[in-house]
Order: sequence, then structure tokens, then C-alpha cells
Amino acid sequence: MFIFFGLISLLLTILADYLIMAFIGISVHSFTLWFILPIGGAILGAFCGKGIFLYLKHANIKATAKHTITSAILAFIGFWAINYFAYFSTYVDDESINNTFKGEHISNYMYNDTEPFTFKNYLEFQFETSESVVSVGGHSSGSSISFGKGYNKTSFYITMLGFIIGGLTVGSTVVGDKSYCDKCKKYMKEKKLYDFTYSSFDNEVMALEKALQKTKEEFDDFIKQERPFEEYGEPYITAVLTYCPVCKDGFINLKFMEPKKGSGGKLVWEENDKYTKKLPLSNEASSMIV
Ligand SMILES: [Zn+2]
Repeated sequence: MFIFFGLISLLLTILADYLIMAFIGISVHSFTLWFILPIGGAILGAFCGKGIFLYLKHANIKATAKHTITSAILAFIGFWAINYFAYFSTYVDDESINNTFKGEHISNYMYNDTEPFTFKNYLEFQFETSESVVSVGGHSSGSSISFGKGYNKTSFYITMLGFIIGGLTVGSTVVGDKSYCDKCKKYMKEKKLYDFTYSSFDNEVMALEKALQKTKEEFDDFIKQERPFEEYGEPYITAVLTYCPVCKDGFINLKFMEPKKGSGGKLVWEENDKYTKKLPLSNEASSMIV
């Protein structure tokens, strides 16, 4: 069943890339950042396999290596299908090339005056003639430069890798860090409880364990308490209740959030899961706080 949804997302991705190329004139699949990072490829590769994981999440099926490998294979197929479809839809009308089936198909023309434009020759032609739009200071100058065949060919295969990487990683963006209840075959739900500063970790965890022995009202009062931070920019802990919606088994995830320099020197907080800890919960305790 998951393959069926994977194939649907593969077809939709091929179609979307084609429509954008033919009618807006942007080739998403060959979009690279700084001439080398295959951003367009990674995004499309991710979309090729995304259907698999949306289905798994919806049907509460645990994602395994089998699904990730299938997703990467779909992304690989997607890469070649998108390039083949670009060839298939390349027509020549009044000596200008279009992707909207106007005029005559490119295979009716000769490549280097010797051979017809097969898919293979079409790719060779792309390697020889592709140009990159140059951006200066973040603004597209509108001028194109050609880096030559070696660069274009390398870029093509790096884009293929981008597709595969997108296919391999999309699962983690859809179901990746969701915990799973093996007993009930359900993805667990998450509910944020509160934040506290890392410097008070031991005291807070002790207080939390005590509060879990109390009534629901007392526990709610406990998590609503003010917990002042000593200074801006210190690491903190976000306590997240993670529980199975059926059997209520669960734990409290104590996520370690640390400051990082974001764009413009502003601080942003990111989880560092090396220091994230799990606080096991009894069934009574998790039923009480859900
Ligand atoms: Zn369960």
C-alpha cells in the first residue's frame, strides 16, 4: 500500500516540475545554490517519496528502513523521469525551443549534423550548452555564463545525489522524531508542559517527580509556576509529555535547547538531542496529566 502512495507522490512531483518548467520557465530540478548545492533536486527528491510517509503517519504504521530505501529509489526514478520528460516535451517551433509540445519534437532534428536527438544526445547537448544565471550580491544580474561541459556534467550527477538525499531524509521530516507505541501500533502524541532553565535541572526534575504523585489540579498549578531565567541566552529545558493516545503509556521528554547564532547575530534555540533526557512515567501518572 505504501508503494502506491509513493508512486502518487512521484507522479505529482514529475508533473509539478514539468508545469513549472513549461509555463513559468523555471527549471526546479536543476536549481543549485552557489552553483553546486542541488537544492531543487533535494526538494523534488523529498517530494518523490513524501507520499510514503504521509500514508504511514495517517495509517499509524511504523516507518522502517524498508520505507526509507523505497523513498530513495523513487527519488532516483524521479530524477531520470523528470529529465526524460524534459526531453520528451522539448519541441522546436520557429527555431526556438519550447516545452509545450508546439512545433516539431527535438528528435526530428540532428545533433551535431550526424545523429538524431535521442535522450542521450539531448543530455550531451545540455552538458555542452547549459548556462548558469549569475547572482551578484543576492540580485540576479540577468546575465548567464557557461562553465563548460565538465561543470555541467558534474552538476547533473550532483543533482542526482541531491534527489537521493531528499528521498532518504524526507521520512524524518514527516514521522522522523515521532515516538511510536509498539503495543498499540500508534504514533505517540506530544504535549508541551513547560520550560525551565538548565542551571536548575536537578531541582526541577526532583520537583517534577514529586508533582507527578499529586492530583491533576496540583500538577496543573505546578507546571504553570513562574520559572525565571537568570540571563538571556542560557540553555533551557522544554518538558514535553509524549504519550500513546490509546494505552496512555508515555514519558516526559526533557529536551535540551541550546542557543545558536542565527542570521544577523540573533540567538535562536535549537534542540541538542545529545543532552535530551527521557523521564519514564507510570501509566497512572501519564493518564493523570494527559
Ligand atoms: Zn499504546
